[in-house]
Amino acid sequence: MIGGKRMKIAILGAGAMGSLFGGLLSEAGASVTLLDVNQQQIDAIRKDGLRLETDGIDTDGREGDGCRVVRLTACRPEEATDVPDLLMIFTKTYQIEAALGSARHLLGPATWVLTLQNGLGNVEAIAAFVPRERILAGVTTIPADALGPGSVRSHGGGQVRIGAADGTGAHRANGHASSGCCMLCHVVALFIRAGLCCSADPNVWAAIWEKVAFNAAFNALCAVTGCTVEQIELVPVGPKMALAVVAETIAVAHACGVSADLDHTQAMVLESFKTHAGHQPSMLQDILAHRRTEIDSINGAIVRAAAQHDIAVPHTEMLATLVRLMEARLLADSRAAH
Ligand code: NAD
Repeated sequence: MIGGKRMKIAILGAGAMGSLFGGLLSEAGASVTLLDVNQQQIDAIRKDGLRLETDGIDTDGREGDGCRVVRLTACRPEEATDVPDLLMIFTKTYQIEAALGSARHLLGPATWVLTLQNGLGNVEAIAAFVPRERILAGVTTIPADALGPGSVRSHGGGQVRIGAADGTGAHRANGHASSGCCMLCHVVALFIRAGLCCSADPNVWAAIWEKVAFNAAFNALCAVTGCTVEQIELVPVGPKMALAVVAETIAVAHACGVSADLDHTQAMVLESFKTHAGHQPSMLQDILAHRRTEIDSINGAIVRAAAQHDIAVPHTEMLATLVRLMEARLLADSRAAH
């Protein structure tokens, strides 16, 4: 609740993650509108509701736990008229400009924007539309898979960590807030009510860089080799390469003034060989489905930041080049086929 009213949330990009969060936040009492350009997805949600399957999220025995249908408003961004308190962006990172461009009319003077997308550069892209002091950023390890139009599944638990994107004022009051409470507090409280393991993180940029390091290692390595996470261990240089990418990324984070933790991130990578054994990271799934990847905001962004600080990141750069080459080859193949 904000000022005694249900929080109004628009979710821009209602794919796997957007639908999952939209469904859960609606169940927790928020007024949620899903915005997408995929007409099939919009039509399915309007006609039959959003089919939600969650088996790792503690929805506290709420009615409809597990597999259920959530009724939600869904439309194209340009059709929406209600200015939200919070706009959550859950497109792929390379779709931010186009998506916010079509939702400009929804960004009122008191609207906050939250990104939990992977990669770097998202806050900068959003800041072209909203002042940085009204942007919340974070990371989530909660997984989601789209099962088809209007249907999403999340299996296994995970966490959400959110902070003020400008790194200050994590507990600043804002126009809507009462008794010194802030938008970040409202959002975290709502997410917890929705069954999500969520916390406000004053050091959120460390969490963002640590996740980027993890993704730069696994996503790109699996995308190039076709390996699942556990198959990276088939040769000893596999894990060595993953750990080298993490070390390069954390060195760049430190040069950028972010206190990301190398030991913690490398431990997460080693742990993943057990916990994510058969998993195909999203970048590998994108390559297999001939879709564009998020390489530019993951390995690509690390390489650009490294160049600004004169740091060599040879493993990260090599993987970025190989994934870009694969993307270009797939695009050329599909052009030739048509
Ligand atoms: P997705 O492809 O399933 O969803 C993206 C949605 O954005 C699609 O429905 C697409 O139609 C929509 N979209 C594209 N252009 C748009 C526009 N101009 N306006 C409105 N909508 C538009 O992707 P996802 O898996 O939900 O991932 C979203 C983000 O979350 C990515 O950055 C990803 O890295 C991150 N993430 C994903 C997971 C996961 O498990 N899926 C976990 C953590 C983080």
